Amino acid sequence: MSDIIQLLPDNIANQIAAGEVIQRPASAVKELLENAVDAGADEIKLFVTDAGKAQIQVIDNGSGMSETDARMAFERHATSKIKKIEDLFSIKTMGFRGEALASIAAVSQVELKSKRKEDDAGIYIEIENSRVINQEPVAWEKGTSISMKNLFFNVPARRNFLKSNSSELRHIIDEFIRVSMAFPEIFFSFSSNGQEVFHLEKGSLKQRIVQILGNSYNSKLVSVQEKTDYMNISGFVGKPETAKKTRGDQYFFVNNRFIKSAYLNHAVNNAFSDLIPKDSFPMYALFIDLNPAEVDINVHPTKQEIKFEDEKIIYAFVQAAVKHALAQFSITPTLDFDLDPGIQKLDAVNKPFTEEEKTRSSNSSLFRSFTEKNQAHFIEKRSDLEHWKDLYESPSTSLKSNSSVLIEKPQTNIAETSDVFQILNSYILLQNDEGFVLINQQNAHERVLYERYIRAMSDKPIATQKSLFPASVELSVADAALLSELIPDLIALGFIIEPFGSNTFIIQGSPADVSQGSEKYILENILEQYKHFSSDIKHSRREKLLRSMALQQSVKTGTVLSKSEMQNLVKELFGCSIPSVSPNGKPVIMKFEKSELDKMFGR
Ligand code: ADP
Ligand code: MG
Repeated sequence: MSDIIQLLPDNIANQIAAGEVIQRPASAVKELLENAVDAGADEIKLFVTDAGKAQIQVIDNGSGMSETDARMAFERHATSKIKKIEDLFSIKTMGFRGEALASIAAVSQVELKSKRKEDDAGIYIEIENSRVINQEPVAWEKGTSISMKNLFFNVPARRNFLKSNSSELRHIIDEFIRVSMAFPEIFFSFSSNGQEVFHLEKGSLKQRIVQILGNSYNSKLVSVQEKTDYMNISGFVGKPETAKKTRGDQYFFVNNRFIKSAYLNHAVNNAFSDLIPKDSFPMYALFIDLNPAEVDINVHPTKQEIKFEDEKIIYAFVQAAVKHALAQFSITPTLDFDLDPGIQKLDAVNKPFTEEEKTRSSNSSLFRSFTEKNQAHFIEKRSDLEHWKDLYESPSTSLKSNSSVLIEKPQTNIAETSDVFQILNSYILLQNDEGFVLINQQNAHERVLYERYIRAMSDKPIATQKSLFPASVELSVADAALLSELIPDLIALGFIIEPFGSNTFIIQGSPADVSQGSEKYILENILEQYKHFSSDIKHSRREKLLRSMALQQSVKTGTVLSKSEMQNLVKELFGCSIPSVSPNGKPVIMKFEKSELDKMFGR
C-alpha cells in the first residue's frame, strides 16, 4: 500500500480556513468596516448589492497601503497590528489575526484600490482564488477601497447555504450598526442596491444613537458615566418609558468592540428591574473600557464573545453604574449603590431553553423530588398515557384557543368522573384509581399550539379576522428586515401584514383567536421571542417562528383556568402527537402512582 496523506493545495486550505471568518456577507462587512476603522479613516462608506451576495464594497479615507503591503495583506496571518506574542495583551485595534482579507480573497473576486498620502500613484489589484490576477497603478485619493464580488462563487455549497436577501441584509444592518455605533466620530454611510439606508454624520455618541435607533430616543436617554482605576463605563440607557417588548436596542461594547453577553445584559436588566414591566427590555448602549490584558477577545474567530478576567466585578460595576445613572435622573426612588451581595447567586442569568438550563432545572431539588424513584414519573411515551387518555377519548379538532382565553366550550363527552383541579394556578391535576398526574398548563398549551401551527403550515391555514381598525407598527431598520422575512409564514398563521413605507407595517388582519386591539402587542412579542431564538442555528426559520408563536400565545403559569378550559386543554393535549414534552423540551406531564404513594406512607 502506498502512503496516502497529502498536503491540501493552498487554495483549498484557504477556502476551508475562510469558513471560520466569513460565514455570510455580514461577516465580510464587519471585517471590512473594522479594517477601515483600524486604518484611521474618518469617512467610511459601505455599498452592497443583492444583500452582499453580488457585491460588497467599503471605501475609506484611512492610511492606505504601500504596494508591497497591499499584496501582503491578502496572505494568511498577514497583519500590521501585532508583532510579538505580548502584543496580544494590549490590543487596541479591531483586527489582529490577519485572517480577514486572506479569507475574503479565498471565497470572492476582490478588487483593491489603495493609496497612501505620501505616494504619487495608488495601486490597483485584482484577486481570484487567492491569486493576484492583475495589478496596475491607479489614480486614487488617499485611502482604500475593497470590493468583493460574488461571495462563495467558488464554493457552491456555501453559496447555496445563504439565506434570503432580506435575511442576509438584516445581518448586514446589524453589523453596520454595531461598528458605526462605536465610532460616532467617524462618518458612515450605507447604501443597498444604490439606495442610501444610513447616512451618519460625525457627532456625539448621543447623536449617533438617535441617528441609528430613531428620533423617539431624543431626550429619552440617560447618561451612564463611572470611572475607576480598574475600568470605565460610559454610554446611555433609555429612560424606563422607552423599554420595548423587543430586545433589539441593546448594545454592549468592550474596548469599542461589540460583544454578546447574556451575563452583562442581565446586570443591566437587574438595575431596571423595578422600573419596567417584567416582559420588556430597556434600551442601552454601554461602553466598557478596561485594560486589554483583563479581557480575552481571542476566544472566538469573530471576536463577539470574550472572556473577562473577573466577570463578577464587571457585573457588579455595570449594575451599580446603571442604577446610579437612573437615580441621578431621579428615575428610581431609592438610592442603592451597594454592590449587590446577591451577585453570588448569578446562576439565574437568563438564558432560556439552553441545554444548561435543562440540566439545571432537571437537577433542581423540586424536579428531583418529583422524579426520583418511588415518587413520580415523567411520562415519556404515548403508551404511558393510554389510561389517562381514556378519560378524554375522541380528541376534538374544533377547539379554538389563544393566550388569554381557552374558549369555554362545555364538552359533554368528557366523563364526569375525570374531575380536573388546578393547583398553584399552574398545574392541572387529574386523578383515577391508579394515582394522579400533574400537567403544567403552560408547557401543555405550548405543545397544543405548536402542533396546531404545524398543521396550519402544511394544510390548514389558520382563519383570519380582518381588523376593524388596522394597527400600524413602526420598527427599527433591523426589526423591519426581520419582519419582512417572516411575513409569508405569518400569513399562513393567520396574520395579514403589509409593508407601508420605510420600516412601517400595517396589520390588516390577525388569527381569528387573537383579540382585536392586541394585534400589535402580540406581533411585537412574537418578534421579540423570535430574536431570543435567533442564534439557534439548529432550527429553521419557520421552526423558530412556530416555537416563538407557541410560547407567546400560550396561557401562562399563574393564570386561573376554569374547569372547562382545563378540560379542553387536557383533551387537546392528549390529541397531540407528542404530548409529553413542550416544543422547547420541557416536561409536560408527571405521573404519581397510588401504589408508590401508599408505600411512602407505610400503607
Ligand atoms: P487584521 O485586520 O487582523 O490585521 P486583515 O486580513 O483584516 O487582518 O488585514 C490585513 C492587513 O491589511 C491589516 O493588518 C492592515 O495592515 C491592512 N489593511 C486591511 N484593510 C486596510 C484598509 N482599509 N486600510 C489600510 N490598511 C488595511
Ligand atoms: Mg481586519
